[in-house]
Amino acid sequence: MEEIKSLWNKVLTKLELKVSTVSFELWIKPIVLLDYKDNKTLILVASSKTAKNQLLKNHQEHLKEVIEEIFGDATDFKILDSDEKDEYIKNSNPSHLNNTNLINNSDDKPVFNQKYTFENFVVGKSNQFVYAGARAVAENPGKRFNPLFIYGGVGLGKTHLLHAIGNYTVSHFPELKIKYVTCEKFTNDYIESMLSKREESKVEFREKYRKLDILMVDDIQFLSKKDSTQEEFFHTFNDLYQNNKQIILSSDRPPKDIATLAERLESRFASGLIQDIQLPDFETRIAILRKKAQQERYFIDDEVIEFIAEKIDTNIREMEGFLSKVHFFATLLGKKTASLDEAKEAFKEKLDNSRENLTIDLIIDKVCNYFNISKNDIIGKKKSKEIVEPRMIAVYLVSELLDVPLIAIGKHFGGRDHTTIIHARDKITQQVKVNPSTKTIIAELKSLITNN
Ligand code: ADP
Ligand code: MG
Repeated sequence: MEEIKSLWNKVLTKLELKVSTVSFELWIKPIVLLDYKDNKTLILVASSKTAKNQLLKNHQEHLKEVIEEIFGDATDFKILDSDEKDEYIKNSNPSHLNNTNLINNSDDKPVFNQKYTFENFVVGKSNQFVYAGARAVAENPGKRFNPLFIYGGVGLGKTHLLHAIGNYTVSHFPELKIKYVTCEKFTNDYIESMLSKREESKVEFREKYRKLDILMVDDIQFLSKKDSTQEEFFHTFNDLYQNNKQIILSSDRPPKDIATLAERLESRFASGLIQDIQLPDFETRIAILRKKAQQERYFIDDEVIEFIAEKIDTNIREMEGFLSKVHFFATLLGKKTASLDEAKEAFKEKLDNSRENLTIDLIIDKVCNYFNISKNDIIGKKKSKEIVEPRMIAVYLVSELLDVPLIAIGKHFGGRDHTTIIHARDKITQQVKVNPSTKTIIAELKSLITNN
């Protein structure tokens, strides 16, 4: 069974490279491996019905491909939601499931992305201090800077550095208990423990987090204000801190901009290190592109590297995505080395995609697809929550992504008044600010829409 667990962890590591980070965090990572039925079928449990739908709709091929690669061609898989899980457990031969190890397998051994190491992190003016801080913490966990707080914009290397600390400490301090979670995962874990009918589950949650030597929480800005999750986070933080255990946090903004966090942890930050990652300069962008090309074994002309570094300057993830597109274009043409022609072609496609191909209908389609509802419903008159929420989200996305007058948007949505449109737009704008799950949904939808 141990072996199955480690194979499944390999599946996760591979999938992480194949799908968007948001999809991975939201739908794939929370999957629980329940059983390996007859040594032939992986029984996977999705975290919710929506998660199951998303997995079936968007990631079935990815799962199939990677599972076959790791477990062999003869292995297939089945995705259950939690009701189906209960049913499955009831109907299965209980001895078969005696090995409860399989349940919640992903929690014990941390799985770090093997590509996200210190060696693969290009150091330049924009990130030299944060790099030094991360290294110092990795080399002396709990002793140098505690907590370490890393902040900076999207796609600038925060997650990479957290994983680098993880990879380093796993190999240099194998005795330490290390955990990396996204804020989302911490929240879900906590809520699950609260909702569980098993009394012990609350204790288990505490033990799981408080026995750690290193806790990393990625994207802590999603820690929501209201609920008791925040309370629990502060207890966990204080407990670890008082025991000289290392805490590492990342965020898209400085601690002072996360209201309650700053207030409650201010005194703690005095002994820590708060460090930002800035936008990389041109030279660093070039160095990063060269490194990625070398890693992925792409042959790319130097002038192409410069072209990309010039065109994309605010997001390294986007830069990487573009690099692989250029490589792909060259492959299609049977060329060994990608030249400026392919780069220009790819860039044109990128512009076209983001401008011309983006229509109200496309956005509506994507939203319908995402929430599993029909176009008639979304533009129609139904007032149930399952329809109203997606409708408002669609309106919000149209007004965010397209330059269309409100009256025209209203017409498109079944002849609605422009004040209704304003209301929907403002409501979601507000929710994105206060509700992490709305924020994540919007991020996921935006990436689905713009990467079309
Ligand atoms: P964030 O978590 O800040 O949104 P990530 O850590 O996911 O960003 O980084 C996005 C991508 O950019 C990753 O593939 C990462 O490897 C790459 N990247 C970011 N900074 C660097 C760097 N300095 N050197 C090499 N790759 C980097
Ligand atoms: Mg990240």
